[in-house]
Amino acid sequence: MMGGFFGAELKYAGYDKVVFRNKSPRLVYIWINNDKVEIRDASHLKGKGALETQDLIRAELKEPRAQVAAIGLAGENRVFTASIEQSRSSASRLGGGAVMGDKNIKAVAVRGTKDLNLARGAEFMEYMAEVTEYINFRNTNPIPDVMTILSGIGSPQEMKHTDEKWHTENFMWGNARTRRRDFWSKPNEENWTKSQLEAVKRLISCFNCPQQCGALVSSEDGPRYMMKCFGKLTYSMAAYVDDLRFNFRILQRATEYGVDSFSTPQILAFAVELYEAGILTDKDFEGCPSDKEGRFIWLLDRVARREGIGDILADGVYYAARKIGNGAEEFDHNTIKKHEQLPLKLGMLDPIYFLMYATNEKISITQIEGNFPQAAFPTKEQRESFVKDWPQVPDERFKQYVMQWEPRGDNAIPYFPTPDMCCEIVDWMEMLHNIDDALGLCAGMGSFCLKPPYHIHNYPKLISAATGMDMDESGLKKIVNRSRNLHRAFNNMRGMRRVDEKPPEDHWKRRFPELEEQLLSTYYNYKGWNIDGIPTKERLLELDLGYVAEELEKRGVLKVGQN
Ligand code: SF4
Repeated sequence: MMGGFFGAELKYAGYDKVVFRNKSPRLVYIWINNDKVEIRDASHLKGKGALETQDLIRAELKEPRAQVAAIGLAGENRVFTASIEQSRSSASRLGGGAVMGDKNIKAVAVRGTKDLNLARGAEFMEYMAEVTEYINFRNTNPIPDVMTILSGIGSPQEMKHTDEKWHTENFMWGNARTRRRDFWSKPNEENWTKSQLEAVKRLISCFNCPQQCGALVSSEDGPRYMMKCFGKLTYSMAAYVDDLRFNFRILQRATEYGVDSFSTPQILAFAVELYEAGILTDKDFEGCPSDKEGRFIWLLDRVARREGIGDILADGVYYAARKIGNGAEEFDHNTIKKHEQLPLKLGMLDPIYFLMYATNEKISITQIEGNFPQAAFPTKEQRESFVKDWPQVPDERFKQYVMQWEPRGDNAIPYFPTPDMCCEIVDWMEMLHNIDDALGLCAGMGSFCLKPPYHIHNYPKLISAATGMDMDESGLKKIVNRSRNLHRAFNNMRGMRRVDEKPPEDHWKRRFPELEEQLLSTYYNYKGWNIDGIPTKERLLELDLGYVAEELEKRGVLKVGQN
């Protein structure tokens, strides 16, 4: 799943998705040219960078307009955080690049020149005109009283905004260790702003989108690449490097290797911490420069190439800690479900986020947060102003939750919103993410931002007009629930259980074990899952997923008759 131009090109070639089964015995790339699909030798591309590969394939095909999604060396080497890169976007999280690498697929190139066919085109375009009107309205009327990055539409507009006080002072530096509350001093602000403005060559959008969430960047005349979102900061913060130019430099290298920019810097910071604690030794770091920047680049090279200690680190912090042993497990303190990492440490348990972190199949917080405010508004006037212009809300009761929610007192976290309310809120967030994912629509236009142009009330109309599968909100919700429960059942088959559904222990300073168990049990019950987080047979039958229940029973995941 990625933005950029790849998805649109694929659709113009006549396809909605590409599914790979089995593995190729040797490295190949796929060339989709409208109806003609070829599997071509890619042995000459072995070891090439993800961006370099795209250029080489376009030249080889003599098709400069082909869109190419490729992996770099990290994907070939099955690094657990390997990404799939495409010139103006990437599918970065959770190791999609490693899956391509495991299948020996270096790239997928596509060129599409067909027409698109809509069931009821004129009606669809009418709805799209409403969507466009709303986007224009929101762009000129940002939501007041929320963080700048949440006030508009799109991926957080990190390439437009230079004010990083909130990220640099609230997210943790190093291996999610230190909060630097006074970082955003005048000199740092000036330096970071100057570095960003120099590096950003121009702002860019994905296909047919006005939002310009990304930028073509080149720092200190280095090669150009695409950057967006929080990757702007993650390497500098993880390495404790106060110079933003370092981030631009190392990210170019990381993009060629094809690794995500969220968990990978955390892996490198984890290694540095182990070294400083004496758990990793000079032997493990032989040849490594001693300065912070050089050390990070050296470690990144080792991980992408799976050389020396990099081979262990390439499996991610959770597995690396267990392989290294000798107390390394204690330094694995911000991993969720063995993979995703969160460089955040906060004060008070947030019940909504507890559920989202703990229970979502996609693991990553940035994939589950969304349309509901992240914190209570301080004043009644602010709450009133927020809810009065909120057509996206699936039900009016959510407005009441916002009105009643206060920063302090009885109606504050952790006990408010109540567990029942939290389940409804989380269910709403998940629903939007599931719809976006199924449609291949940008989360920045739907599930990820506060007041998005696409929501549960206009999605059924748009989908009906586009596809001719007439559906209302309840029909769409059933599809969402089928998808959600299929994902869950799949993960249950892979071994996921209640015990895995917990945020890192020190994610919040103040934890409430009883409340957390109550939240989890209430949520499972709300979803129609058993006490271990597995969909019940009754729930699966309701969703016409009887064959999934049979499979779960056959494998002993769901015991016959088990509630
Ligand atoms: S809103 Fe989404 S589709 Fe549009 S430019 Fe931003 S990331 Fe791309």
